[in-house]
Amino acid sequence: LEGVSRIYRMTFGDVVALNNVSLSIEEGDFIAIMGPSGSGKSTLLNMIGSLDVPTKGRLYINGTDVSRLSDDQLTDLRRDTIGFIFQQFNLIPLLTVRENVEYPYILKYRKKDTEGRCDELIRQMGLTESLSHHKPNELSGGQQQRVAIARALVNDPKILLCDEPTGNLDSKTGLQVMELLKSLNEQGKTIIMVTHDNHIAEYSKRIITIADGEIQ
Ligand code: ATP
Ligand code: MG
Repeated sequence: LEGVSRIYRMTFGDVVALNNVSLSIEEGDFIAIMGPSGSGKSTLLNMIGSLDVPTKGRLYINGTDVSRLSDDQLTDLRRDTIGFIFQQFNLIPLLTVRENVEYPYILKYRKKDTEGRCDELIRQMGLTESLSHHKPNELSGGQQQRVAIARALVNDPKILLCDEPTGNLDSKTGLQVMELLKSLNEQGKTIIMVTHDNHIAEYSKRIITIADGEIQ
């Protein structure tokens, strides 16, 4: 990121969620973004994931200035390069576990996963085959987050963005999810994670602290 600002124009005035942030993240890194509520952590993550665009400044992913991409190119880049994991899991309630994991695959390849990559990922996340046919609300929080991680991985992204991935989990389950993220980082995924929790942040290689939209 080069001099990235995100300003929300509200009727009552401007909210500067990010202020002139410059940051370089290397392939294979494991970053924890920490800071108080409202400091701009999610805004920063959404910017990196191109879910949102800077009001000022530039974002480069693999050397590509994303502001120069068309909407379609941006969608492709996001789908091929980035996986998202959220605090609220954000699984689709009407789809089964397997259908949730398969969904981004179908969007990308325009076909069903006949090679069984989804089943393999579900297994690697420590979930049993029988759970594949369940709906998300029949699973525990930890199981749902594992499904969400499998879904984030299905198109083999280089970058995983995690916004409070353990925020809705008890501490033991949270640490299990962190072990999973750690092993994914060891396998070469770049991980950028927002957390409030010092223990969780210890899994990262580098902690970035943000306050009032600025990196400290
Ligand atoms: P938390 O720890 O509570 O999740 P955060 O660090 O993730 O907080 P952000 O969600 O990035 O904080 O918000 C940063 C600032 O931007 C806050 O002042 C927030 O009110 C504001 N903000 C975020 N999203 C919007 C929006 N869509 N419209 C207007 N203001 C917003
Ligand atoms: Mg947030």
